[in-house]
Amino acid sequence: MEDLVRQLEEIVGREAVVAGRDKMESYLFDETCIPVRPPAVFDCVLVKPGSGTEVSRILKLANEKRIPVYPRGGGTGLVGGAVPTRSGIILSLERMNRIEVDLENLMAVAEAGATLGGLLKAAEEAGLSFPPHPGDEGAQIGGLVACNAGGARAVKHGVMRNFVKGLEVVLPTGEVIGFGGKLLKDNMGYNLMHLIIGSEGTLGIITKVVLRLNPKAPYSFTLLLPFNSRHDALNAVPKILRSGITPLALEYVEKELMGRSAEHLGEKWVFEGEVFLIAILAGEENIVYSEAEKLSQICVENKGLEPLVAERRDEQESILRIRSNIYTALKRDSMDILDTTVPPSAVGRLADAIDSIAERYNAYIPVYGHAADGNVHSHIMRKDADNYEAVKREIYEATMRLGGTITGEHGVGKIRVNELYKFTHPKSIELMKGIKRLFDPNNILNPSTVLEV
Ligand SMILES: Cc1cc2nc3c(=O)[nH]c(=O)nc-3n(C[C@H](O)[C@H](O)[C@H](O)COP(=O)(O)OP(=O)(O)OC[C@H]3O[C@@H](n4cnc5c(N)ncnc54)[C@H](O)[C@@H]3O)c2cc1C
Repeated sequence: MEDLVRQLEEIVGREAVVAGRDKMESYLFDETCIPVRPPAVFDCVLVKPGSGTEVSRILKLANEKRIPVYPRGGGTGLVGGAVPTRSGIILSLERMNRIEVDLENLMAVAEAGATLGGLLKAAEEAGLSFPPHPGDEGAQIGGLVACNAGGARAVKHGVMRNFVKGLEVVLPTGEVIGFGGKLLKDNMGYNLMHLIIGSEGTLGIITKVVLRLNPKAPYSFTLLLPFNSRHDALNAVPKILRSGITPLALEYVEKELMGRSAEHLGEKWVFEGEVFLIAILAGEENIVYSEAEKLSQICVENKGLEPLVAERRDEQESILRIRSNIYTALKRDSMDILDTTVPPSAVGRLADAIDSIAERYNAYIPVYGHAADGNVHSHIMRKDADNYEAVKREIYEATMRLGGTITGEHGVGKIRVNELYKFTHPKSIELMKGIKRLFDPNNILNPSTVLEV
């Protein structure tokens, strides 16, 4: 280990290499629920390169010596992807955090260690916007691309993949490759860039990303659409989507969860109603108003109660902050958070299936999520730990019967590898393993993540 530290110091300088558990504790875990989080191996060296060239030299060294490398972004992942599970190198991109906005092409070029918060701010300062909001603002661009993160606004704008136009990637062998660019069209051969997007740090280290930006929407407001039951609220979703209105976000939440999250933040949830759809509408003011009216009418015709409007920016932000913090508020009492996803028209049936599983196991399963994407977050709580495996299996099976996937946004990481194998065609697994071998012949990059090779 001493030799490795010295060699890494030669590449990045002494101040960018950290050895010793006490100095790198916060790099040894991510936001995965603790009972299912993979145990970290402490015998690691943390290195913080300052350029793509340094990343390349680190990977050449690691590949030569067959040392595992664990790429790390903001550590907000929910499936243990960034947790080091063998003795090796933790590679943090945090020093590579520059962002340049290209106003002419409506693009940003961000280094992988820039945060989502930093990107949103840079776009806003340039009079533009980065429409997706894929999760915690402390997540880094490299991590968001590596996970193909989704978030609340995917219903209108899609996931990270829809915004990535170019990548700079360092392969496990140390070669640096550029994919795509500031291009809206690019059909040159197989699209390897899209293979890297969502590969969870197993095929290459993302060092730079070209992202599409949008002009800012002139006006937005948030509608709270209360319902008496989960069933009624989620069954209204396909009707909204069929109406031709595509909200910026259409989230499903429950009063109890919003109350817990508000309390966790030291705020209050003051709105009447048991369960809610939260719709964010954005665009020209007159269009937003007419969409809001139509949307309210659809909900009322489908067992919804009187809608509530948040027009002030601070009110809107408070609702979204409370929604975004449900996970954090529930985390302490949770065994696991699932993010199963079904075709949008089946989201009500998935919720019904989860209700029936909860009843059979006498379990409490809080549910919330990105309703219009069919993407439901369901928590299995610590109090139901005895039935954890059975409840999880039943939710996955119900999801698959509805034509869904076991993960719509969080990914496989290190904790869902068995389920990936269980629910994926063996030929697909064989092809994935072949791709991993081509990119990473010595299996040094984030081993035991996505695949067990
Ligand atoms: C409160 C909260 C809310 C969230 N909401 C959402 C949401 O709405 N939608 C959603 O999709 N996710 C959400 N997430 C999950 C998380 O924010 C995303 O998965 C995010 O993409 C992780 O980014 P990160 O930088 O924190 O990556 P990390 O957790 O550090 O790493 C995640 C994975 O990416 C790899 N990786 C990181 N950086 C690189 C790089 N430069 N090159 C190659 N691989 C890399 C790691 O090895 C690991 O496998 C949420 C998380 C929290 C805590």
